[in-house]
Amino acid sequence: PSTISPSQPLAHQVGGHEGVQTTADGSLLIKPTLPLELTFYQSVTAIPALAPLQPWIPQFLGTLRLEGQRTAEGEVVQGVPSGLEEQQDEYSIPCCLVLENLSHPFLRPNILDVKLGTVLYDEDATAEKRARMEITARSTTSHKTGIRLTGFQVYDNTTAKPITTPKSYGKSITPADLPTGIACVFPTAFDGAGTSGLPAHTLSPMLDTLTDAVRAVRDAVASVEIRMVGGSLLVLYEAEWDRAAEGVEWLKAHPGQFAEEEDEDEDEDEEEGEGEGEGEDDEMSKKAGPPFVVKLIDFAHTWLKPGEGPDEGVLKGLDTLIELLDGRREEVRASL
Ligand code: ADP
Ligand code: MN
Repeated sequence: PSTISPSQPLAHQVGGHEGVQTTADGSLLIKPTLPLELTFYQSVTAIPALAPLQPWIPQFLGTLRLEGQRTAEGEVVQGVPSGLEEQQDEYSIPCCLVLENLSHPFLRPNILDVKLGTVLYDEDATAEKRARMEITARSTTSHKTGIRLTGFQVYDNTTAKPITTPKSYGKSITPADLPTGIACVFPTAFDGAGTSGLPAHTLSPMLDTLTDAVRAVRDAVASVEIRMVGGSLLVLYEAEWDRAAEGVEWLKAHPGQFAEEEDEDEDEDEEEGEGEGEGEDDEMSKKAGPPFVVKLIDFAHTWLKPGEGPDEGVLKGLDTLIELLDGRREEVRASL
């Protein structure tokens, strides 16, 4: 089991508010949360109709109450987690989610946060916020395509350091620029003068299966009755060449793992078995597994809507992303 204290800021955060922490060993994430997000995680565990989402959200281990914040000088101060001062009123019961840290299994995680949906306000929004969010959706790719590239990090192969593209990029581009944006997230090592990315012979098979996984997420979202406002798909993949190649071998040895129909119980059992071993042997946990992860995150404005059908704006976004990934797969395959 992880030690909860001391915690440290999340090393690989590509979007959102400050204040996300990890446990000392990096395996768990401690994220300040709003009541709706907590309700959502609890509901997915409790409500059978939401079970299709389970494989596609981070593992939820429970909650922590923040009793205070430690200042740089080591002093403990009571109050709202830093970065969330604006939400002071909602913070009468300070509470954090304890989630699986999705970047933990990777040596060099390349990460994309894709904001999903065409509508960026929920039914609780004030008229002012609604108007502001409508302008935001229409002035970005969100309204037309259902996605916005919130932020991403891609490792530089020369320095072995991640290069982060901030949200200003994703906010400034048009739908026509999205294929270029996706190519920046999934570069091949020899694209132009670039120094980032995987060799095409590794990236190509990885992207094929990653796209299958996004299709499976789409099917899961299509089968549940929720409204997800401001939520994201977090896409992570291994940028360290040898480890990524091992991951591709792992995929070949586990065919159908990310297929749309998950009807083979054997596969699930196997996955659980591997998960259990992880906590025990720290460095050994960084053993071969899938070279990527795709999960839905950020449910601060997600509502259960029984009887109202699936979230069409989120589905539109996932369809856009699948189309973009298919386009990138073709480009990478052509470069083989
Ligand atoms: P916010 O409400 O601040 O947008 P998010 O849930 O979107 O909060 O998280 C912000 C960022 O933290 C994400 O863009 C991602 O980089 C990182 N993050 C969130 N959840 C996880 C997770 N379970 N594992 C790894 N990174 C995460
Ligand atoms: Mn977010």
